Amino acid sequence: MCRHLGYLGPSRTVADVLTAGGERSLLTQSWAPREMRGGGVINADGFGAAWWPPGRDPVAYRNPAPVWSDPAVEGALGEVAAPAVVAAVRSATVGMPLTREACAPFTDGKWAFSHNGSIDGWPDSIAALAEWLPAVELLRMPALTDSALLWTMVRRRLDTEEPGQALRSVLIDVLEAAPLSRLNLLLSDGTGLWASAVYHSLSVRVDESVAVVASEPVDEEEGWLVVPDRHLLEARPGHLEITELEASA
Ligand code: GLN
Repeated sequence: MCRHLGYLGPSRTVADVLTAGGERSLLTQSWAPREMRGGGVINADGFGAAWWPPGRDPVAYRNPAPVWSDPAVEGALGEVAAPAVVAAVRSATVGMPLTREACAPFTDGKWAFSHNGSIDGWPDSIAALAEWLPAVELLRMPALTDSALLWTMVRRRLDTEEPGQALRSVLIDVLEAAPLSRLNLLLSDGTGLWASAVYHSLSVRVDESVAVVASEPVDEEEGWLVVPDRHLLEARPGHLEITELEASA
């Protein structure tokens, strides 16, 4: 069911963000996650990382092969450093395409997005959602997956809504159409992290210099908090806010 992570803090190489933490790292989580729910175990259907060179929009690297098989992780990705990184390892939902384009993070402008989970009853359950998305927006979907649809919905709302509100309103609409969906969303603009826990595990660690949001802790540092189910968070170094999904709906 995928694992994802967002990092804000002192500049680190993308390789370090993927591999530091040893047995806890996102790399290790691709074959030995500890907190997977809902049946999947191995996250071998690709991976991706987006990083924000200082003052620039994010650059993304994605590969539909398992993260442990890509020499770029220890090679080229060890040569790029950034103060903001979003990364994901993928376990494709049955029936969804195994392509590079289907691997998170999805990026556009300053934004990068990842989804851990699935839309229940895809695609019939969400027919009603098409009313809120012009066909031309659907044609912009990077892949024919539930995650890409969620990204397309979020991206459109970011034009008019604050990031936390964009996630919240998409969650509410999708859960109304498909209540059993698993919707752990992660969004960043390189200066803030916004994320939701809906069914899947999510943890966060924030201190004065670092903010890390991850499907499960990616290191042995103290201070990880478990985000309760059906909650949203906003995090950046020195700031953490966790709110209930329904409370201010
Ligand atoms: N449903 C999404 C996909 O197939 C995400 C999968 C996941 O979280 N395992 O890409």
